[in-house]
Amino acid sequence: MTRYRYPFLSLKATNAPVEDALAEAAARVIRSGRYVGGPECEAFERALGDMADGSIAVGTANGLDALRLIFRAFIEQGEMAPGDEVLVPAGTYIATWLAITDCGLRPVPVDTDPATLNMDTALLERLVTPRTRAILTVHLYGRVCYDDELRRVATRHGLKIVEDCAQALGARAASGRAAGALGHAAAVSFYPTKNLGALGDAGAVLTSDARLARTVRALANYGSDRRYHNVYRGLNSRLDPLQAAMLAVKLPGLAAENERRRALAAVYDSAITSPHVTLPDCTAGEAMVWHQYVVLCDTRDGLRDYLDSCGVETDIHYPAACHEQPCYADIPHGPLPVAESVARRCLSLPVGPGTSEQDAREIAEIINQYIPR
Ligand SMILES: *Cc1c(COP(=O)(O)O)cnc(C)c1O
Repeated sequence: MTRYRYPFLSLKATNAPVEDALAEAAARVIRSGRYVGGPECEAFERALGDMADGSIAVGTANGLDALRLIFRAFIEQGEMAPGDEVLVPAGTYIATWLAITDCGLRPVPVDTDPATLNMDTALLERLVTPRTRAILTVHLYGRVCYDDELRRVATRHGLKIVEDCAQALGARAASGRAAGALGHAAAVSFYPTKNLGALGDAGAVLTSDARLARTVRALANYGSDRRYHNVYRGLNSRLDPLQAAMLAVKLPGLAAENERRRALAAVYDSAITSPHVTLPDCTAGEAMVWHQYVVLCDTRDGLRDYLDSCGVETDIHYPAACHEQPCYADIPHGPLPVAESVARRCLSLPVGPGTSEQDAREIAEIINQYIPR
């Protein structure tokens, strides 16, 4: 039991509405005798690919592996080599960067756009060097980061566009195209807290490139293209059928879940009037699926303590930019003032399935009473 009147996120509340269907699907897998690969995985991959505008989906063990596999595949196909550079936001979850460095590639951090809290695409052009091979765009907090400038830079310099879609499944770019179908390949995470969460770790790669999909699938299966024939020094990172079955139950509910999050964001947007907090842009429509509702506050820690004392549980995504993490102390970079400032000022409010619109109104009222000290 949580001590909070307004918990940040309850995974139990997330899965309660489909509990019976999940149990039934789990029983089906148990009785099938098929515990790696097989029809459960194939069915979910098809449903996921359809949702992403007819992409090919390859299930993986988690979202980080999905990203790693994409870069490994580009390397195996001779399109990138260790030492090459990848443009990536400084303000993202650490896994985005880990995928790059794990493949021997070099992250080149891009500062944050203060209006969207996504990568500032106006900065991309001047960061391109002869070693740049890709832009790893992150749809942070569920907001699509893909615009004409990003596409122009990628096209001009022949860069791959890779999407970190871990927080934005179900979102659509302004063009109407699905997140996950905007670049050459995309990584999805089904970590239990994501908008579509498994009951454990799971992930997927999305791409419309059949060759890349084949390479990813082989790499994820010991590098073998057929049994006992290993073309790559691969890894074992497959989606397991139990999680595929759980996800197949939940996938049809994703659109409604994203809509529910939009409604909550709209409540916060109209009800929070405190001059001490800056609200996120609420006009993005379908380009935003509100994985997090993040406000900025100059006295963030004070606001967080105050909310805590009022029974409102909050979280911080993320308290440090990636280049500020000890493991990346050696990564060269230019000034990244916005990413650093956002890390000090950001605070995530509850938007999960356990939070009602009435809760959001009450939380807004509590925030409006906040006096910085
Ligand atoms: C969750 C997340 C990942 C990693 O996914 P896992 O399934 O936890 O490995 C990568 N990038 C972002 C932006 C994420 O939020």
